[in-house]
Amino acid sequence: MGASAKLAAFRLPPLPTVGELIKLYNLRAEKQLSQNFLLDLKLTDKIVRQAGNLKDAHVCEVGPGPGGLTRSILTAGAADLLVVEKDARFIPGLKLLSEAAPGRLRIVHGDILTYRMDRGFPVNISKTWEEDPPNLHIIGNLPFSVSTPLIIKWLESMANRTGPFKYGRTRLTLTFQKEVAERLTASTGSRQRSRLSVMAQYLCKVQSCFTIPGRAFVPKPEVDVGVVHFTPLVQPQIQQPFGLVEKLVRNIFQFRRKHCYRGVEKLFPEARRAELTKETMQKADVDPTLRPTELTIPQIRALADAYAHLCAHEPDLLGFEFREELGMKHQSRSGNAPTGP
Ligand code: SAM
Repeated sequence: MGASAKLAAFRLPPLPTVGELIKLYNLRAEKQLSQNFLLDLKLTDKIVRQAGNLKDAHVCEVGPGPGGLTRSILTAGAADLLVVEKDARFIPGLKLLSEAAPGRLRIVHGDILTYRMDRGFPVNISKTWEEDPPNLHIIGNLPFSVSTPLIIKWLESMANRTGPFKYGRTRLTLTFQKEVAERLTASTGSRQRSRLSVMAQYLCKVQSCFTIPGRAFVPKPEVDVGVVHFTPLVQPQIQQPFGLVEKLVRNIFQFRRKHCYRGVEKLFPEARRAELTKETMQKADVDPTLRPTELTIPQIRALADAYAHLCAHEPDLLGFEFREELGMKHQSRSGNAPTGP
């Protein structure tokens, strides 16, 4: 079979256009749900190409809505596409698409934030973590209010090899508000370098694919959109528990413009702050006067290892939260000493 004949085999039968579907089912975008649709199939094809070769792939599409991206995934040759959509109004249109691609589209009416993806695909597609990624992809154009908490949740699942990562190093192709996409991919020393850059890059190879201008969406959002591709690394760059890394990085980046030791200090109770901060910085061999944005991931790894070493000797340190100490201090100053349990 020639290349064009092979492609023709994946072509969907004639269907109403995505625009006609929206009219047919009266699918007005809900502003409250930040719904912005992509109707241009050339653009949805371009997003799908960033995921790589989808021939015979298993795919989970998050938030299919009226189904533009869904059509492109099917046209790219996915054998098994599971879509998770929260808004019931889209289900009839998706069923129409499912009839046009018999046996290839499964529809879940649910919330991706709680959906158990570890149960969504056959176990036999799994690969070990060290092997090439499994033929399973996650693709989605989600509302910005969902895509950021979702990527943080998935980074944690990645670290723990749970959820979608029970199958191996599942790749993700997702859209974000352009500024968030820039933070995810920002390198050391750049203005956009943030907590999100470090958390994503210590676990994944993160690639910025392209920017979609806001005007390509219906209705047009206020901002542009960045497409980002994530491939989990075989060997995470920091080998400490996700919670410990998250706490360290959160503390360091809370004072973005100050010397990095100012954030490290906040990991420790006031009475021992100076001594333990000095010990951590020395053990990690990191210049305390670097700014958080100037720290490389190997330097953050050295800090995480030094902090983990201290916590191993004094487990109470791990539970210490600077803001709680601050709250207690305010309470006792105002005369409202907290009562015991
Ligand atoms: N993918 C479609 C497109 O590109 O035209 C729709 C994009 S629209 C920005 C986001 C879609 O995600 C909507 O259909 C919305 O109902 C759905 N959605 C929002 N939150 C969701 C959640 N927590 N779980 C599943 N779907 C969700």
